[in-house]
Amino acid sequence: MTNGEAVRRTRMVQGLAARGIRDERVLDAMQRIPRHLFVPPAHRDEAYLDTALPLATSATVSQPYIVALMMESLLLTGAECGLEIGTGSGYGAAVFAALVHELVTIEMDPVLADTATTNLESCEAAAGGCDNIRIVTGDGALGYPPGAPYDAISVTAAAREVPHALSDQLAEGGRLVIPLGGRRRAQQLIRIVKVGARLRRDDLAAVRFVPLRRSSDTV
Ligand code: SAH
Repeated sequence: MTNGEAVRRTRMVQGLAARGIRDERVLDAMQRIPRHLFVPPAHRDEAYLDTALPLATSATVSQPYIVALMMESLLLTGAECGLEIGTGSGYGAAVFAALVHELVTIEMDPVLADTATTNLESCEAAAGGCDNIRIVTGDGALGYPPGAPYDAISVTAAAREVPHALSDQLAEGGRLVIPLGGRRRAQQLIRIVKVGARLRRDDLAAVRFVPLRRSSDTV
């Protein structure tokens, strides 16, 4: 890592705080994780801009502010079992894993899952803290029953509605953040909190994510 990258990352984190991110653990994690290691080489100069970056036809590296907002909204203390749907580059997984005890992350595209594995190995070598992540290749809409229940679930692709498997695999008191909406319709990032048999919903922000695919879709 060059000094320039560290300086740019500090500026990025100052920008997140200026936009209203208050959770110090989230800001610290984003200060520590080298986002440039997760960005395709052609976009490396833009790694510390607060913008989503292209990764593949149906994937982007999420915008830092949205990653921070999702993580802050999950109210993480460090003790949680977390689940992420949509590993993509692995950047969101690296941040999430820094904030929880252990993380399962599911990616449908096997090529992206391989790239994310390599990216997370580089991140582990450069910054540490990525050795509590398990990458699973498959349909994240089905969750991952062997690791359930989860205290915190983050979905990084937009769905029409909250997949039942995910709300079922949420622990009592657990939090789930997910963008809801279609490709053309406006999407809303929401948080679900499981309280007894009820799911309490809060609206967080207007967002734009790639669609959550179904197992039957082609990549
Ligand atoms: N968190 C990622 C963002 C990835 S974009 C990052 O920081 O880089 C959304 C990702 O969701 C894409 O990689 C896409 O392949 C994946 N995806 C879409 N539908 C999925 C599904 N049903 N199960 C698992 N992954 C899915």
